[in-house]
Amino acid sequence: RNAIDVRAVSKVFGSGADRVAALDNVSVVIRENEFFTLLGPSGCGKTTLLRLIAGFDFPTEGQILLYGDDIAPLPPYKRPVNTVFQSYALFPHMTVAQNIGFGLEMLGKPKGEVAARVDQMLKLVRMEALKNRKTSQISGGQQQRVALARALAPQPKVLLLDEPLSALDYKLRKEMQIELKRLQHETGITFIFVTHDQEEALTMSDRIAVMSSGKILQVGTPWDIYDKPAERFVADFIGETNFIVAKIVSAADGKATVALPSGTTIPATYAEGLVPSGEVTVVVRPEHARVVKEGGHLPGTVETVVYFGTDTNIHVRLESGGVFIARQQNSRSAACGFETGERVGIDIAEDAAQVLKD
Ligand code: ADP
Ligand code: MG
Repeated sequence: RNAIDVRAVSKVFGSGADRVAALDNVSVVIRENEFFTLLGPSGCGKTTLLRLIAGFDFPTEGQILLYGDDIAPLPPYKRPVNTVFQSYALFPHMTVAQNIGFGLEMLGKPKGEVAARVDQMLKLVRMEALKNRKTSQISGGQQQRVALARALAPQPKVLLLDEPLSALDYKLRKEMQIELKRLQHETGITFIFVTHDQEEALTMSDRIAVMSSGKILQVGTPWDIYDKPAERFVADFIGETNFIVAKIVSAADGKATVALPSGTTIPATYAEGLVPSGEVTVVVRPEHARVVKEGGHLPGTVETVVYFGTDTNIHVRLESGGVFIARQQNSRSAACGFETGERVGIDIAEDAAQVLKD
């Protein structure tokens, strides 16, 4: 079932010289029980989309459906939607338990019911031991848990999370990423999670929508987005990658043969709906190419060898121009085996090349 159906939504702020199209004809479907992530750089429209779903603001054009019904007539408090903000917005003078129960009390729920639900939430976020602490006296990570518990307490159908982990330090953020995934799984609530951090999006999401300048460029599983980027922005924004100018030799049914600058041809894939021809850009992830002493698809010279624990990146200056980065996993028994200045080839793995849209 579809939880949220965003249909051709645009949102314009200001007018004349101050006009900003924060969302430009955005359509996306978010399924029930899904961990869905909006990923994009600052200013691309992520918060605006969440605010429209929550009802804090209205689309200039288009519709948002919740379980098939247009939610435009519903004020925010009547929507089965709750939001966790980046600034947790807790009441510092109240205890952990009081904060979690606050929303339920405002809804006029009986005391017994509130208490039972608060206990359940405390358990869910593993904060039972601190329930009587004031929220001004707990750590950032603990405040994050309380904010989550408070948002989940009224049992919303959809939880909106606007960069909820960005205030936490790296280690705690990693921990909370796993914690959030567990919470989503255990509650079965649809999560719409916002982040500008590509690694965070890849680790946590069932599906990701990549946004840029008010548009959704691509929606897919982390694997789709990482391995089958449809356009340059997506490929570039998500992880390290190599762009190669190539020529289409033939293309049919999502499979193409492309000629590399070296003249060698390799197979490549492309997105549905695309009809590639002529000169195109092909992307290859560093881990999908090997540096070889002889042969390979692209000749070049080793420029830099960068070791980082698990892997080594080998930067190869191509004869055709530009630098290609290939990544190889390190072994305990030997160093990477390549030296600066060495003549080598780049060997691209079968089906590792993807043709871009632009
Ligand atoms: P993100 O959350 O991805 O960083 P936002 O949705 O907050 O992006 O903003 C998208 C664009 O809309 C930005 O250019 C921002 O400056 C503009 N914007 C957002 N809210 C308003 C507003 N209330 N008035 C005018 N411009 C706004
Ligand atoms: Mg934002």
